[in-house]
Amino acid sequence: MEVIKFGGTSVGSPEGMSNIARIIKSKTPKIVVLSAFSGDTNTLEKICKALYVKDSEEANKLIDQLESKHNQFIDTLIESELEKEAAHETVSAHLNGIRAYTKKLINLFMERSILAQGEMISTNIFYHYLRSLGEKPVLLSALDFMRIDNSAEPDAKYIAENLDFELAKYPNKEIFITQGYICRNAYGEIDNLKRGGSDYTASLIGAAIKASNIQIWTDIDGMHNNDPRYVPNTKPIKELTFKEAAELAYFGAKILHPSSIRPAEEKGIPVWLKNTMKPEAYGTLISDSTQSHGFKAVAAKDGITAIKIRSGRMLMAYGFLRSVFEVFERFKTPIDMITTSEVAVSVTIDDETHLEETLKELEGFGQVEVDRDLSIVCVVGDFLQDGHGYAAIIFEALKEIPIRMISYGGSNNNISLLVRSGDKKAALIALNKGVFKL
Ligand code: ADP
Ligand code: ASP
Ligand code: MG
Repeated sequence: MEVIKFGGTSVGSPEGMSNIARIIKSKTPKIVVLSAFSGDTNTLEKICKALYVKDSEEANKLIDQLESKHNQFIDTLIESELEKEAAHETVSAHLNGIRAYTKKLINLFMERSILAQGEMISTNIFYHYLRSLGEKPVLLSALDFMRIDNSAEPDAKYIAENLDFELAKYPNKEIFITQGYICRNAYGEIDNLKRGGSDYTASLIGAAIKASNIQIWTDIDGMHNNDPRYVPNTKPIKELTFKEAAELAYFGAKILHPSSIRPAEEKGIPVWLKNTMKPEAYGTLISDSTQSHGFKAVAAKDGITAIKIRSGRMLMAYGFLRSVFEVFERFKTPIDMITTSEVAVSVTIDDETHLEETLKELEGFGQVEVDRDLSIVCVVGDFLQDGHGYAAIIFEALKEIPIRMISYGGSNNNISLLVRSGDKKAALIALNKGVFKL
């Protein structure tokens, strides 16, 4: 079985949706994972924001806009009157569900349920569209099998068991459609896998059913060597290892959700990145093996905060770093970069939820400095342990850019640099010229 995921830009235009119908037209059984139409999850977030400030007029205006957008889409795309009618009805039902919430005081549970409606709507429209083309798809609710545990981590065993159970109900079917992004949490409530989470859904499903491959179809012809939103002249990469792809996703390559590679890597399932609007383009194959070494790509992650702890107690002492890291562990705050000197340690974090409490505890160790609005620029590739000259090429390219921290040697796949967010774009462009000669 294959798992084929289409993102918001792919599903969000009638042309994109008809391409999807063509792309999935093979005899191989498949689970098709769909995101919400592009922009819908943002609109749903805005509706929740309006409801939190009791602006039900604004919320209703946004719901009406969603309704007319989807109704127009259905009228353009679906020819069969029967399926068109059914699609209109399901869209209304989902939006009326949100309208009912505009009369109450919103809470977190309702917010998550509202955020789930984008994927509910897109999968229903696609289901009726496929039926109008004479296909016999099955629409599976992700809420019946996708689940996270108490630590917001996917519950792989539950997912595999319950997905098997759902699939076993339809032994002769070939096309299964389901929602990306949405899930239930440990309490059985509607929840989600965080923004961009449909990629994660696809790889979790792929791992659960031990798929032959996972395909992520989007609006670009694969992973590019640099961020095309900031840099002109980027080019697609044909092959990446799981490790390289995971680093790029984690450090800001928006084409993949940060956690989406791990489940595929654990089960050794190849992942293809492909372009819905240009299916003939090769795209990127992410797998265990790679033929090429050296620099592959650059990505950048914003919203980074650096914390420096300076202490005389560090000098010639052991156990100091452990005490510092324990503070971050207690507040469940992941650390991205670390550098140390004999008297100071600097770390970066991207989650400020517990920053205040963390700082208070760290002040017990020495003088603490905090620096915000930083970005990690991450150069990814296969840097052979005995290789040389990689760092020199990077520093030469970045000689005009102030660098705050450097991390090299943590793995053979990643050289990370911390810069001011205001310098990020210039750094990415400089690396494109200096490292990739583009
Ligand atoms: P989808 O809606 O299909 O999930 P996303 O917008 O989440 O699509 O991801 C695709 C976008 O990721 C591209 O349009 C591109 O702007 C952005 N992107 C950022 N970095 C990269 C990269 N290194 N390679 C390709 N795309 C990238
Ligand atoms: N619809 C969700 C979002 O916009 C999930 C996704 O697109 O992957 O974040
Ligand atoms: Mg995405």
